[in-house]
Amino acid sequence: MNREGLDLLRQGAGELGLKIESQLPAFERLFELLQEGNTRLNLTALKTEEDIVLKHFVDSLTCLRGNYLEGSLSVLDLGTGAGFPTFPLALVRPELHFTPVDSTRKKIDFVRETAAQLGLDQVVPLVGRAEALGRDAEHREQYDRVVVRAVASLPVLAELALPLLREGGLLVAQKGDITAEELNAGRRAAGEVGGKVQVVDPFELPILGDARTLIIIEKLKPTSSKYPRREGLPTAQPLF
Ligand code: SAM
Repeated sequence: MNREGLDLLRQGAGELGLKIESQLPAFERLFELLQEGNTRLNLTALKTEEDIVLKHFVDSLTCLRGNYLEGSLSVLDLGTGAGFPTFPLALVRPELHFTPVDSTRKKIDFVRETAAQLGLDQVVPLVGRAEALGRDAEHREQYDRVVVRAVASLPVLAELALPLLREGGLLVAQKGDITAEELNAGRRAAGEVGGKVQVVDPFELPILGDARTLIIIEKLKPTSSKYPRREGLPTAQPLF
């Protein structure tokens, strides 16, 4: 990463109240590995240094707003892709235990290799679909947090994520500028699967100013065994 990239990362993290000086070498290594991975596997559409720093690294760090990811929590990252938001979060919050999940094997292979290169033992990736994991006793109602960025609409996320959370657990969904319609559908879906939208926190991405919203859904009671429905249905026929 060149000096401009490092300055943007420092500044963006600083605007989020994070000091990441000691983690900068690890972010530089992550940047290199992502570029190598992109050449081989075409993992992400974001290719310029500024885009990767601001729209992957800083954008992922915004999941730390509101302090919902503090302490030694188990965190499932649903639809992690090339490892976002897992990697930036794992670098600045080493006490969190991450299970980044994706249905695409080549992406999870990349996440596994990258975690090993960065020495992140607390990141244990998994190939799979959220619908299947949500019905698997090894994963159902096992996680303190589910984090998700850029995967699906809020009602779909509620059906996929809430079965994976233990009671009292939180879905931390980082989204763009959410419409009132999607939010209402998300509220109804959350109720259907045992949860409640507790926080809607609109904010601007540091430096770029793009609209973002952090949505927190709390799991209040066990999810009915009807959910999640079989693979593909939550997206094809959202609950609301
Ligand atoms: N979260 C990453 C990010 O912010 O860069 C990746 C976002 S990418 C647009 C969405 C990812 O979610 C894809 O890699 C896709 O394979 C994965 N995905 C979508 N539906 C899924 C499901 N039901 N179970 C597991 N992974 C899923």
